[in-house]
Amino acid sequence: MIIRPVPDRLYNRGRRTRNFVLDDGCTGCGLCARRCPAGAIEMDGDRPRWVKDSCYLCFRCLHHCPTFVIQYGDGKTREHGQYRNPFTKV
Ligand code: SF4
Ligand code: SF4
Repeated sequence: MIIRPVPDRLYNRGRRTRNFVLDDGCTGCGLCARRCPAGAIEMDGDRPRWVKDSCYLCFRCLHHCPTFVIQYGDGKTREHGQYRNPFTKV
């Protein structure tokens, strides 16, 4: 039996896509789906849908959503705000 280190287990739990919640106000622009490096998001009409059980947990979708409607797990996403690296283009 392989015993995984704690950070590994935390990461594997954290990257489950069921942790993502979509608030009201999505415009259906599809940016999150187009730019997800894991291909974990697909558009279902004008709503994004996480189609994989887990992803890379990079938070690109959350931080680049123009309407900031992608929230994560603990309900404090709005408090934490969004961050965009000024040296990269989306
Ligand atoms: S980037 Fe935001 S507004 Fe655009 S489709 Fe995704 S969740 Fe909706
Ligand atoms: S956190 Fe990153 S890998 Fe996961 S769904 Fe969002 S963009 Fe894709």
